[in-house]
Amino acid sequence: MTSPTPKSILNTVFGYADFRPLQAQVIDQIVGNTDTLVIMPTGGGKSLCYQVPALILDGLTVVISPLIALMQDQVRQLHELGIKAATLNSMVMRDDYDKIVGQVVRGELDLLYLAPETLFTDRILTLLSQQKVSCLAIDEAHCISSWGHDFRPEYRRLVEVRQRFPNAVCVALTATATPRVREDIQSMLGFTQSSTFIDSFDRPNLMLDLQPKQSPTRQITQFLASRKDQSGIVYCFSRAQVDNLATALQDQGYTALPYHAGLNDEVRRRNQERFIRDDVQIMVATIAFGMGINKPDIRWVIHNDLPKNIESYYQQVGRAGRDGLPAHCLLLFSYGDIVKQRHFISEKTNPHEKQVAESQLQQLVGFAETIDCRRKPLLAYLGEVYEPENCSQCDNCTGTKEVEDVTVAAQKFLSCVYRTEQRFGAVYVIDVLLGSRGQKILQNQHDQLSTYGIGKDYTKKQWQHLANQFQQAGLLRRNEHGSLGLTDKAMLVLKSQEKVQARMDLMPSASKSKAIDLNYDTALFDALRAYRKQLADEMNVPPYAVFADKALAEMATLFPQTEAGFLAINGVGQHKLKKYGADFIERIRAYCEPRDLSDKTATRQQRQATPRKDNGQKKRHEIVGDAFKNGMSIAELASEWQVKHSTIVAHLSKYMQSGGELTSAEIEGICSLTQDTQDAVLAAFEVEGAEALRPVYEAFDGQISYDDLHKLRLIYLCRQTA
Ligand code: ADP
Ligand code: ZN
Repeated sequence: MTSPTPKSILNTVFGYADFRPLQAQVIDQIVGNTDTLVIMPTGGGKSLCYQVPALILDGLTVVISPLIALMQDQVRQLHELGIKAATLNSMVMRDDYDKIVGQVVRGELDLLYLAPETLFTDRILTLLSQQKVSCLAIDEAHCISSWGHDFRPEYRRLVEVRQRFPNAVCVALTATATPRVREDIQSMLGFTQSSTFIDSFDRPNLMLDLQPKQSPTRQITQFLASRKDQSGIVYCFSRAQVDNLATALQDQGYTALPYHAGLNDEVRRRNQERFIRDDVQIMVATIAFGMGINKPDIRWVIHNDLPKNIESYYQQVGRAGRDGLPAHCLLLFSYGDIVKQRHFISEKTNPHEKQVAESQLQQLVGFAETIDCRRKPLLAYLGEVYEPENCSQCDNCTGTKEVEDVTVAAQKFLSCVYRTEQRFGAVYVIDVLLGSRGQKILQNQHDQLSTYGIGKDYTKKQWQHLANQFQQAGLLRRNEHGSLGLTDKAMLVLKSQEKVQARMDLMPSASKSKAIDLNYDTALFDALRAYRKQLADEMNVPPYAVFADKALAEMATLFPQTEAGFLAINGVGQHKLKKYGADFIERIRAYCEPRDLSDKTATRQQRQATPRKDNGQKKRHEIVGDAFKNGMSIAELASEWQVKHSTIVAHLSKYMQSGGELTSAEIEGICSLTQDTQDAVLAAFEVEGAEALRPVYEAFDGQISYDDLHKLRLIYLCRQTA
């Protein structure tokens, strides 16, 4: 009788025609008694690498795995193939346990799957030391490394166990590729004559797609319209988002279930089971979902929110298309999400962790903003160089995206970097481009530079986006302390020998035009804006502190030419009337008189005045607002009206929303959160709007109290109309 070969076992036992890349070599190593480290992407076929040797080697193969559900699944599959395998873990009942121990003692098993904590019990260690253990397979081997994303201290004890079985060949397997983790595994396990096999981490069947996030629920349902019967996962940032989206999808007739750590074990298990069995099509989940999911036919993954870093993105999209058939991965990208993540990072107390998280976020932003093939930054992160120019399986390579020539902007930016002597970071350079009167800029006399104030065609946020893209395009080098330096390629751009392109669909929109829906006289508007800018510069305050664009637009619509008329403009109160009224009215008159434009504020004044007089009483928020402006504090008002502080704050917001005016100075200090957190929340109001607090509450996963949100909304409104 000829002894079986790996190939014959593959054909006859597993029923597969050929080995996948690397499998044959790995199996030869193991059968030849050489310790081996196998690094293969999820779905690459790692299990076969020790299952085939287990059937060839004389003795028992012990497989260590931390995932109980996966072990049980594998053993079931092996039984289907007629292979003698069993698992012992904390979920195994007493009777079965004794039965399996009996099988081991009698040498009836080829494979024994163990959870680490089961392996470390005296009973099992003693049992195994009396058997011939020919191979020790360590699955999910990255758990041994504290550099990995899933470090499990108990895995360290595998080092001792390995010494107890000096004759067993050891094979460690993982889908985590970073070199640091790899080296850690080798040295921890004391691999002397070890050989390492690294499969490519590219998953060519995954379509990598990214779209700017506009209205996510609508974007998701559009995506789903052509995928009626396909299984997929939507990853969300917070539990509340998961619940809401799952409900929204259900309401539209999809079978979707939520999955997150806030649900009890039973519900989670049931939801997962129903997904795996195709009873439901969609799993809406936090990152809690996915470990140990073997479902091979997940056809799509959507990231409703930005993942934490490239590694988690890769892991999560990697759950799609394990069967090798095409699968679509869509990331909905927004700058608001970055702000949100920065907020969470800013709350980290450990400086090292903070730094790591920041650089990971930066890499992820680089991945999102690249105009090259997405596989390049993705695989580069995993330590691999992706050679092809065009993968034809990512949004950039299929080329439907809006890319624009931004050479002129790049030249402005780069020459500003050059003129500030490559000593500053992007924020400073942008301030110079925007003509800021910041103290540091004046001290450095950078207001004298030729590049000072030449960048006003973009907003600060837009410049930030462009700066990221310039960095991505290899024009800028970030030095140790965060200052930007020019590369050789940058010099070519400055000499107009090379062009620069950027993704414009991701560009944050200029917020200035957002609030204005009036049909205003643009020439007057522009003139007033220029005047506002001049005043603001003289006072060294931002222009919006003088008047918001919305107020200017109203002036350019209603042409107020008297004090009363001016006062009727939203955003003009007594204070501003006194301070700016005369000058602005003079300018408006000078513009209107030769053009025969009359003051239209009178009609508005009447309209506003009538209802109040008619029913003879003001609304409560008006009374509260007026009293507050007359100097009563929030505490005094709360006690007078017998309500909570937050109710008064809510009244004040309403007062503002219905055209009242408060200045930022009056509400100074009402919120005690850190400035970083305040900024993050204010940015969220920018994205979510200020009508309702709930979206912002949920965006921060309930970590900011409604009390604080009331206050921050008020601050937000004051800034808007200041
Ligand atoms: P991993 O553990 O690396 O994530 P698995 O070992 O679960 O991957 O294998 C993924 C899938 O590929 C399984 O369904 C497995 O049966 C299948 N597979 C493995 N090797 C081959 C092969 N040589 N030919 C065909 N299918 C294979
Ligand atoms: Zn590509």
